[in-house]
Amino acid sequence: MLPVTFLVALLLAFGIDPPRGGIPASDIGFRVLETIGGIGLIAVCSLGLGIWVTARVSTDRQSASRVRRRYLLATRLLALLSLIVYGWIIHSVGWSRVVQANWGFDGLGVLGDAMVFLPFLVIQGLIWCGQFFAEQALEIRIHAGSGGRLGRYLILRSRQTLGLLMPVVLTFVVRRDLLRPLWPGWDASPMAEPMEIVLLGSMILIAAPIFIRIAWPTRSLPDGSLRRRLERVARRAGFRFTDVLIWDTGGCVLNACVTGILPGFRYVLLTDALLESMSPVEVAAVFGHEIGHIAHRHLLSFGFFFAGSLALLSLIGDGLDRAFLWAGPLVLVPDWMGPEVVDLARESVVLAILGVYFWFVFGYLSRRFERQADVFGSRVVSCEAGDCPPHLDPDREPWDPSDARAGLPLCRGGLRTFAQALAIVAQFNGIDFDRPSWRHGSIAYRIRFLEQLEREPGGERRFEREVLGLRILLAIVMVSAIGAAAWRQFI
Ligand SMILES: [Zn+2]
Ligand SMILES: [Zn+2]
Repeated sequence: MLPVTFLVALLLAFGIDPPRGGIPASDIGFRVLETIGGIGLIAVCSLGLGIWVTARVSTDRQSASRVRRRYLLATRLLALLSLIVYGWIIHSVGWSRVVQANWGFDGLGVLGDAMVFLPFLVIQGLIWCGQFFAEQALEIRIHAGSGGRLGRYLILRSRQTLGLLMPVVLTFVVRRDLLRPLWPGWDASPMAEPMEIVLLGSMILIAAPIFIRIAWPTRSLPDGSLRRRLERVARRAGFRFTDVLIWDTGGCVLNACVTGILPGFRYVLLTDALLESMSPVEVAAVFGHEIGHIAHRHLLSFGFFFAGSLALLSLIGDGLDRAFLWAGPLVLVPDWMGPEVVDLARESVVLAILGVYFWFVFGYLSRRFERQADVFGSRVVSCEAGDCPPHLDPDREPWDPSDARAGLPLCRGGLRTFAQALAIVAQFNGIDFDRPSWRHGSIAYRIRFLEQLEREPGGERRFEREVLGLRILLAIVMVSAIGAAAWRQFI
């Protein structure tokens, strides 16, 4: 989802320091020409791709899927080429030097950065133009709402990219233009980095609704029986939110999400396709899954988990350093290899540990949390028969706050409704029921889990106890790791 090409381009422009100082005035014209030449190359390739796809589709309707595969490959290559060209413009042509030193944008902060980044923005715009023509010919609706006009397509793509990139860009700007000038000694403090990560992380979580609203076209769910049903569900679960939004995807995406950690500034998003394909009670179950993540404080737990993991990994890194110091003399490293090879080996081991750790630990935790949210989603809906296990009629109006003591009992009807909603998600998105999913678990597994709860009377309680145990265990490990890492910093 994240625009990786943009991130790499930002890194090329601002991560690696280009040579400083201006270039001779007589040279500037030529450098600008070179820059325009590089951009022109992309324009030719991108529009060429659009024309090629259009021509192939109109002459040979049969091979649409082959053309589509080649088109997707070509867009990847084009992205790679755009990065090579932009890297060349920055580091070889010296565009940033022309902008900063010769044209005097240095010291203008964000404005100067924007000028340095301008060639890439133009390049990206040209690539989108080519993609628009190709995707129209292929009738691909990968990107929300394509199939309209070029201007609309460009605005949609820019909004998506801007909304998703903004947290990264803001983080960078806050660090460089705010933190460093205000506290010149900040960088030297050992606590600077962890503090920054925590501060910026929470800032992004709090501001996420703004980014989401920039990235995707949304509108408020109109008043009606569905909205009132969802509001009742939220009230019974004690969940506060700013609004329920319909996320317009041109009917291509079936999805839901909740964004924002502050109760007063938080949206639940349901896509147009979800509202079209599901019955109101299924929509309520999906809505319940999303608010289940909040009710169980999953986002905060993940934040805490990441902070603890950073501490844990820094301890592991220290341990590795010692191991390498100790084992270094035992291993015969040929002279021509030098210390870089040892460093590289150490870095590779750290990376491998990091990968394995996140794959297993984070994956497992995430899947447990998803199961918990599934159960929560099943709880907010029911068979609506009062005598099933005795539960409240979720649609009884008006709702009496004293009912809250009765909680949200789980019934067969609720479990089946949620399983049905999962099946609709899989069918709509063309997901194989057995396809594994690292963060969520396969659809077949999720449905089996709900069926198991339906069969086993005490299953739900046991599951909730297990998750609680897991969280307590993780909390102990993480708190100890953070404590140990902090202690090492200061001693
Ligand atoms: Zn979820
Ligand atoms: Zn029931």
